[in-house]
Amino acid sequence: MTQTRRYRYVGPAELRDLPATVDAVAVDAPGALAKVVFRRCPACGERNVVRDGDFTCALCDGDLPARWNFA
Ligand SMILES: [Zn+2]
Repeated sequence: MTQTRRYRYVGPAELRDLPATVDAVAVDAPGALAKVVFRRCPACGERNVVRDGDFTCALCDGDLPARWNFA
């Protein structure tokens, strides 16, 4: 059984790959940076990248808070 229903970018890989992604986005459209949002899941503590306003934890399918909580 897979826990991933939809593509989502989680885990250590995001730390490695995200800077390149941000750079590419920043060059093309600075405003698009606002669409890349981090949330930490309050249920399992996993870091998630929220895309398209889908506030669902990729690891446990829990609801992610609408407000920033990544620290
Ligand atoms: Zn979770």
